[in-house]
Amino acid sequence: MRLQIAIDGPAASGKTTVARCLADRLNLLYLDTGAMYRALAYVALNTRTDLDNQSALVRLIDQHAIGVELDRAAPLGFRIRADGEELTPEALQSNAVTSVVSTIAAQPVVREAMVREQRRIAQAGPVVMAGRDIGTVVLPDAPHKIFLTASVQARVQRRRRQMETMGVDVNAHELAAEIEERDRLDESRAASPLRPARDAVVIDSSAMSAAAVVDRICAIVDPAA
Ligand code: C5P
Repeated sequence: MRLQIAIDGPAASGKTTVARCLADRLNLLYLDTGAMYRALAYVALNTRTDLDNQSALVRLIDQHAIGVELDRAAPLGFRIRADGEELTPEALQSNAVTSVVSTIAAQPVVREAMVREQRRIAQAGPVVMAGRDIGTVVLPDAPHKIFLTASVQARVQRRRRQMETMGVDVNAHELAAEIEERDRLDESRAASPLRPARDAVVIDSSAMSAAAVVDRICAIVDPAA
């Protein structure tokens, strides 16, 4: 059976940090699927596309050649391009993108296109994939599924540190409101809402370091190691 590790969870729960460390540790391919929705949001904003027009949004993927290349040495741990340009972490994590990405990701036609591409990418080899619907929809047969969660307070602190390393100063109250609103949208949408897969192991990382979470997942993946 192919080694696939699905890591899902709410906003800023540490999925990408953990998934990337895990991929490095186990020498697996790595993809954060949130970046694909963010890339589409980035292009939609730049082209002033109607954010409720599903078919116009999906057309942007081809029109602007939005695509992923797996490469753990890249700044994000993979490359994502639009119009031939590699998108930076700063562009993908901007407040403008963050404030619209869940509206775009709620649209079923957009999700179908993304899921198709994510499944195709997963064919490249053993992979750690992070997102919201990896264990439930994208890779439902993945042998290992983790649902990583943490208190809102812990998530706000983590996101704040992450934004500060990118030189962005953020207000903790605004950040908490943004995270809670995005959770609400992701959990309540009709098309593949955020929820743990039935066979997922739920890890609450509120009081755990990323390294401790990675150790725990490694023990789940290979109990004999
Ligand atoms: O993980 P990240 O916070 O970058 O994801 C941005 C947004 O993309 C999420 O809030 C969610 O709306 C959407 N998303 C999704 N399904 C995924 C990954 C992300 O709906 N697999």
